[in-house]
Amino acid sequence: MAEVKAVRRPVKEEWLLEGSTESKSIVNPIRDIVDGRKLEQNPQKNLVSLSIGDPTVFGNLPVHDVMKQAVKDAVDSGTCNGYGPAQGLAMTRRAVAAHYSTPEAPLTEDDVIMSCGCSGALDMCITVLGNPGQNILIPRPGFGLYSCLSVPRGIEARHYDLVPDRQWEIDLDHLEQLIDANTVSIVVTNPSNPCGSVYSKKHLLDILAVAERHFLPIIGDEIYDGMVFKGQQFYSLASLSKNVPILSCGGIAKRYLVPGWRVGWILIYDKNETFKKEIFPCLLSTTRKILGPSTILQAALPDILAKVPQSYFKNTMNVVEANANAVYSELSAVPGLKPVMPSGAMYMMVGIDLKHFPNLNTAVDFMEKLMSEQSVFCLPGECFQYPGFFRLVLSMPNDKVKEACARIKEFCTKHYV
Ligand SMILES: *Cc1c(COP(=O)(O)O)cnc(C)c1O
Repeated sequence: MAEVKAVRRPVKEEWLLEGSTESKSIVNPIRDIVDGRKLEQNPQKNLVSLSIGDPTVFGNLPVHDVMKQAVKDAVDSGTCNGYGPAQGLAMTRRAVAAHYSTPEAPLTEDDVIMSCGCSGALDMCITVLGNPGQNILIPRPGFGLYSCLSVPRGIEARHYDLVPDRQWEIDLDHLEQLIDANTVSIVVTNPSNPCGSVYSKKHLLDILAVAERHFLPIIGDEIYDGMVFKGQQFYSLASLSKNVPILSCGGIAKRYLVPGWRVGWILIYDKNETFKKEIFPCLLSTTRKILGPSTILQAALPDILAKVPQSYFKNTMNVVEANANAVYSELSAVPGLKPVMPSGAMYMMVGIDLKHFPNLNTAVDFMEKLMSEQSVFCLPGECFQYPGFFRLVLSMPNDKVKEACARIKEFCTKHYV
């Protein structure tokens, strides 16, 4: 009989703990750019922060009573404390399907996956569609999360250009040039953060035509669905798609003014059963990692979707649109600035003619100096891969807007040459 030798495995000799490669490759452009600077406000002036896309921070847009009651009822029922199905509670998925289903783009509860915010929905979609070495097409300027979810997985984030002079429509030629055999999906943000743009039916049909030519599913980030100004109309990608399968990511964060509640979903539109064999089962597997958002919030959702009146959304958009109009007219008259009027969501991008500001090299400099001199905080375009612009949030009370614009004007007038 052969002699069995006890092999001693090499063991560690000290506390040497290293973070994973994946975690180290997570980039959050906002944190990286903003936290990297020593941001100090002018102690003589109170802070006006127009930087973060959280409509709760100013206190002018309170949560609707129906929503508070729905959560209280869910707690009091005593039946929502256990684990729910990984895909989401059936009653919740049924309510979401009923709310979003249309004759052109019908949904059943099986087509809905509940997630921890729209972020969780995007995470699942990108996880399922992409492998290392492949690539995904994302907008520039765009929301930083898309590359944050792709790059650490070895998926290349390829930025397609949006055109400011055409209300931030996609440069479709550029989009198409970026596509190759390793492209897995196109991410379309409509309405847009950071641009506030809302795409026309024609433009969405053109985008769908590109996707169809190249057999690419679309991940629609439609978290701002319905958040449009008067006279504008929101079309979901799914409502216009004939053959392109769509994963529409959404949630209650923005429209319902509760980003902290962390409730989102994926709506799976798959008329031709393109997702059926692989993508759908893989999405279901992915839900088993996190098991969806809190069951309390899931149980509250049917009432929230059914009972919150239209006036709640109208009020939000009235505030945003009035602010957009005020900011646009004020900043259009400021030397060196070129605001682009939005049509929805809650943001505006403003171009900076940097050649007229010799002591400011970049939009990051602009942001930093505006903060130290005027205590106005906005995000530089670099946070959205778009130098030469800054982004303003438009959900604050109207008097704050006036104050902010006056200070931006004073700042630009001082530095403009
Ligand atoms: C805010 C935002 C999200 C994230 O939504 P959560 O539900 O808070 O995760 C996703 N996409 C865009 C474009 C956003 O602006």
